[in-house]
Amino acid sequence: MNHFEYIDGVLHAEGVSIPEMADKVGTPFFCYSTATLERHYKVYADAFEGLDATVCFAVKANSNQAVLKTLGNLGAGADVVSVGEMRRALRAGIDPAKIIFSGVGKADAEMREALEADIAQINVESIPELVELNRVAIEMGKKARIALRINPHVDAKTHEKIATGKAENKFGIDWTRAIEVYRDAAAMDGIEVTGIAMHIGSQLTDLTPFREAFTRLAGLVEQLRSEGIHIRNLDLGGGLGIAYQGETPPLPDAYGQMVRETVGHLGCHITLEPGRLIAGNAGIMVSRVMYIKDGEAKRFVILDAAMNDLIRPTLYSAYHEIIPVEEQGEEDVQATVDVVGPVCETGDTFGKDRKLPDDLKAGDLVAVMSAGAYGAVMSSTYNTRALTPEVLVKGNNFAIVRPRQEIDQLINMDQIPAWLGNE
Ligand SMILES: *Cc1c(COP(=O)(O)O)cnc(C)c1O
Repeated sequence: MNHFEYIDGVLHAEGVSIPEMADKVGTPFFCYSTATLERHYKVYADAFEGLDATVCFAVKANSNQAVLKTLGNLGAGADVVSVGEMRRALRAGIDPAKIIFSGVGKADAEMREALEADIAQINVESIPELVELNRVAIEMGKKARIALRINPHVDAKTHEKIATGKAENKFGIDWTRAIEVYRDAAAMDGIEVTGIAMHIGSQLTDLTPFREAFTRLAGLVEQLRSEGIHIRNLDLGGGLGIAYQGETPPLPDAYGQMVRETVGHLGCHITLEPGRLIAGNAGIMVSRVMYIKDGEAKRFVILDAAMNDLIRPTLYSAYHEIIPVEEQGEEDVQATVDVVGPVCETGDTFGKDRKLPDDLKAGDLVAVMSAGAYGAVMSSTYNTRALTPEVLVKGNNFAIVRPRQEIDQLINMDQIPAWLGNE
């Protein structure tokens, strides 16, 4: 459920009308709903009631500090994959004791900063990384609390670019080698083994792969215990999918029940890292129609947003619902159109063969739905287009939480070397 609805025929985010925001902010822009973020977080967190669990929001899904603070105020921790994300989480006031550092390759400087900040846990994904972290920790006179990220060799049955738990994926340590790596880790002076971590993929719409992976994980924990290696934190990752196009992913309650059944008996603290589920449907991208182009074979609706603003359709062939901001009547004639951006790439297409009002015209607004996760965070400045602003709504108020970048700000970052004549 989200809080983007038509009120008197005009799309609103909670109590604020989209055209009102568009007038003040310009287009395109990302718009997030506080009520939806809060609701998603609460429904998810409630699914683990009775378990000793911490929900660490996956910052890579949406790293705006206003979003992080909204969730942090409800008790969320953060799962970060770079030192930049860690700084954002800390600045948003998230307790270091609730920050987990994941990711396939952490640089020395990142390890150092994480140890300095005394975050809860660093998830290690390979033996060389473990050796390096040990070295850095010893140098600093510290012990790094770690989990090993284990790759359970489970097919998440999701888009190939966001499946992470198969043998051929770059993520984690093969589960068949886990015991020996844990033995090595336990013998390292700079390492304190605290946990075990998994994240098998994103946008999963079925519980079966999770169940398989967590069952495997529980077996490992028991095996490790019999070897005297005490695992106290289970990090189960994120990955629960959302509805983009009528999918019916399992509800958080069913997921929570499955977690109880597979790992509940181990008596461990549980960390969860949802990203998409919290933020995906809590955000939209608002764009203005620039031109309607009636081609030979097709009608194109050309937006002022492009693939640099929201790359998911281009990158993952992802589906995003696109709706007119002015509500269409039941009787109104619809046209079948391709919705595209102005960037010079055929891939710059938001949707093919979509139904939009036949009388949609230049200047009208449309909303690209489900753009709250992996939207603004993945945007770029391709075609020298400035980064898109982000707006957060709460009730009848809204605030710009990232202003539009000035194009000159962007251009001024280039430096001409002296040999080219740098006046
Ligand atoms: C991306 C990622 C997540 C979040 O995944 P969602 O599908 O957005 O829930 C959680 N944990 C790790 C380690 C990740 O890489």
